[in-house]
Amino acid sequence: MQKKQQLCILGATGSIGVSTLDVVARHPDRYGVFALTAHSQVKKLAEQCALFLPKVAVVGTAKAANELAALLKEMQLSHIDILFGPEALCQVASANECDSVMAAIVGAAGLPASLAAARAGKKVLLANKEALVMSGQIFIDTIRESGAAILPIDSEHNAIFQCLPDHYNRVPGQHGIHKILLTASGGPFLHRDVATLDDVTPEQAIAHPNWVMGRKISVDSATMMNKGLEVIEAHWLFAAPADQIEVLIHPQSVVHSMVSYVDGSVMAQMGNPDMRTPIAYGLAYPERMDSGVAPLDFLKLKGLHFEAPDFQRFPCLKLAYDALRAGKSAATILNASNEVAVQAFLDKRIGFRMINQIIQRTLEKMPAVHTLDLETILACDVEARSIAEAMISS
Ligand code: NAD
Ligand code: MG
Repeated sequence: MQKKQQLCILGATGSIGVSTLDVVARHPDRYGVFALTAHSQVKKLAEQCALFLPKVAVVGTAKAANELAALLKEMQLSHIDILFGPEALCQVASANECDSVMAAIVGAAGLPASLAAARAGKKVLLANKEALVMSGQIFIDTIRESGAAILPIDSEHNAIFQCLPDHYNRVPGQHGIHKILLTASGGPFLHRDVATLDDVTPEQAIAHPNWVMGRKISVDSATMMNKGLEVIEAHWLFAAPADQIEVLIHPQSVVHSMVSYVDGSVMAQMGNPDMRTPIAYGLAYPERMDSGVAPLDFLKLKGLHFEAPDFQRFPCLKLAYDALRAGKSAATILNASNEVAVQAFLDKRIGFRMINQIIQRTLEKMPAVHTLDLETILACDVEARSIAEAMISS
C-alpha cells in the first residue's frame, strides 16, 4: 500500500482550508493530517481537530491556545499538541513529518510560513498569492534551490498549469506560447454605473456572483485587484513577461484560464466554479482523483461570453500591471497598501473608490527599491502599511 501523504494545512478554517479538508475527507487512504492552523476561529479549529486528528494545531495567540486546550480537553483530544504564533506556523510548515503544505493563509501574514515550506523542500500547494506577489524572485529562487514543488491552487493558475506542456521549463519564448489568457469574472460591479461605486457597501462588494470566498479576496475581486495580483502571480509562476499575460472578462467563470499557442491552438481548462477541483488536482498531481465537483454540463451552459477589461472601471488592475512593469519593491508596496485599504473599506472607514486611490498614492510616495532579501521586503511591507494607514486616518 502507498504511504499516506502527511499534510499541513495553513489557514484550515478559511474558505480554501475548508474546501481542502472536504477533498481530504474523501480520500482517507491517501492523506493524513499532520497540522491544522487557524488565527482566531478556535471553535471551528477544534471541530476540525475532532474530525481529522492532526498531531499539531496552531493558533494566533497564547489566549487562543488556552481556549483551544480547554475545548480539546473536553473532547478528550488532549494528545494534540497546541502551538501559537507566527514562528509556530513556520515550524509546522517545515516539519519533517509533513510532506505537503497547503498555503492558504490570507495576505502577507502567510509569507513566512509559505516560504518556510518552500525552503524545506515541501510540495507547496500555493493559494496564498500575496506571498508570491510580495516576494516573487526570492520565492522562486527558494523553490529552485530547495527542490520544492510548487502547485498553483488559484483556479486560473491551476488552469494554466494544466494547459502548459508537461516539460514546461519556464523559459519565455519557448514551447510556442503566444499568450497566457487569464479569465476574470468581473465581480459584482461589472455593469454597475461607475458614478455610484462610492455608495457600495462591504456586503455588496463581497457578494461574488460565482464564487464563495474569504472577505479580503472577495473585495479584491470587486476591484479586480485580485486579477492584478494574479497577473503578477502568473509572471512569477510561469516566467511570463507582463505583455504576454492578458486578462479577459468572462462572467460565467467556466473557462478558468487559457494558453494560446503560436500555431493558433488555444488550450482552455474548464469546469464548474468550485475550488475543490484545483485543490484535488494539486493534492493528487500528477494523478487525478475525485474532488466532489460535478462534471460540467455543457447543455445547461447559457453561452460563454468574453470582453476586455475597462481600466477606468477597474483602476486597480492597471495599478498592478504598472507595478509588475516597475519591478523592484513596487508589487510589495501595491500588496501592502491594498491589504490596508481593503480592511479599511470592510471596516467602513473609507468608500470603495478610495481603495485604488490609497494604493496609487502609497506607490507614489514610496520609491521602489531592490528587494534582494526577505528583510527588505518585510520592511517595505511595514512602511507601505504605515503610509496607507496614515492616509486613511487623515
Ligand atoms: P479566508 O479569509 O476565508 O481564510 C483565511 C485563513 O487564514 C483563515 O484560516 C485564518 O485563520 C487564517 N489567517 C488569517 N489571518 C492570519 C494571520 N495573521 N496569521 C495566521 N493565519 C491567519 O481566506 P480564503 O478565501 O480561504 O483565502 C486564502 C488565500 O487563498 C488567500 O491568499 C486568497 O487570495 C487565496 N485564494 C482563495 C480563493 C478562494 O476561493 N477562497 C481562491 C483563490 C485563491
Ligand atoms: Mg483566482
